Amino acid sequence: MRVNAYAAPDAGQPLAPMVIERRDVGPNDVLIEIRYAGICHSDIHTVNGDWGPQPFPVVPGHEIVGIVTEVGSEVTRHRVGDRVGVGCMVNSCGECTNCRNGDEQYCLNGSVPTYAGTDRDGTTTQGGYSTHVVVDADFVLSVPESLDLAAAAPLLCAGITTYSPLRRWGAGPGRKVAIVGLGGLGHMGVKIAHALGAEVTVLSQSLKKQEDGLRLGADHYYATSDPSTFEQLAGQFDLIVNTVSAPIDVDAYLSLLAVDGALVNVGAPPEPLSLDVFSLIGGRRSFAGSQIGGIALTQEMLDFCAEHHIASDIELISADQVNTAYERVLASDVRYRFVIDTATLT
Ligand code: NAP
Ligand code: ZN
Repeated sequence: MRVNAYAAPDAGQPLAPMVIERRDVGPNDVLIEIRYAGICHSDIHTVNGDWGPQPFPVVPGHEIVGIVTEVGSEVTRHRVGDRVGVGCMVNSCGECTNCRNGDEQYCLNGSVPTYAGTDRDGTTTQGGYSTHVVVDADFVLSVPESLDLAAAAPLLCAGITTYSPLRRWGAGPGRKVAIVGLGGLGHMGVKIAHALGAEVTVLSQSLKKQEDGLRLGADHYYATSDPSTFEQLAGQFDLIVNTVSAPIDVDAYLSLLAVDGALVNVGAPPEPLSLDVFSLIGGRRSFAGSQIGGIALTQEMLDFCAEHHIASDIELISADQVNTAYERVLASDVRYRFVIDTATLT
């Protein structure tokens, strides 16, 4: 099946329209007519070559929502007409310890990324900036009816990437949680941490988005460009989730943790981060990382968001606005996720 898409022809090149091939629907596959695709900063890192060479041309997009239009003969979980979503991975071995534990993203045989990956049939995967996609049914999520479809798209990456560490490190009543960076991931982190009952602080470069941060559910908002912020908040937080796409001063953020606190990095800058071990030793603190979340947890997150009436704050754009949107994300000028209306791809 040949479908319209928007692709990066080479590293650092502007995205442009392209026709790509989708595989035939296999026995355990679902064909999805994509309605909306979110723009994640990871799409930009990938096509700009920040994370190394890629199999260009690359069709980015791993925040996909749409409607099922065909299912394979063995599919039982999804039916034609269902509202569904696809996140950052489309396959894994299903047999290793991590897959069996519901951590498919850490598959020991390599989980298959939604784009720029090699699927288990040997083909290169292409992502959601397109009109249709064929995905193994086990990697297709159900999008609850009460969620607006366009605003739900970013939950498939930004939502699960923040929900997972917030749950694992126990964000909840009586816990002080800070979110660093109020972009796509950060604004979902604020909404979810607030819904979990935590006391939420935003640590942003400036106070420009303070009003938004408080509206999204934050209790406090500080500018990290003001050195007094780090003095005032020393030793305060049980959990800090860092969503920044660029390197940060790890030691400065570790100093904000209470004893036994954790700084969890989800931001994925191309440069290595360094830290002074005394920042950890001096408070029994942890520095950790977290990658998206497993399929069962992603469904749990979607159901949680529906129950708490949470979705993303989005700016809906047409496909020909993608390159401008990339520039605005790079300039931290995103409020708070760009979502492509794939109807504009026809
Ligand atoms: P985004 O929308 O661009 O948000 C990042 C935010 O970080 C910006 O809005 C800005 O917030 C802050 N920031 C940007 N540059 C900065 C700098 N030089 N210094 C300090 N703060 C800066 O990006 P996103 O889509 O949320 O993604 C964030 C990062 O997470 C990316 O590196 C992405 O690849 C990664 N990611 C990881 C996973 C995972 O599984 N671990 C999943 C998805 C994405 P303020 O203006 O508020 O300061
Ligand atoms: Zn992403």
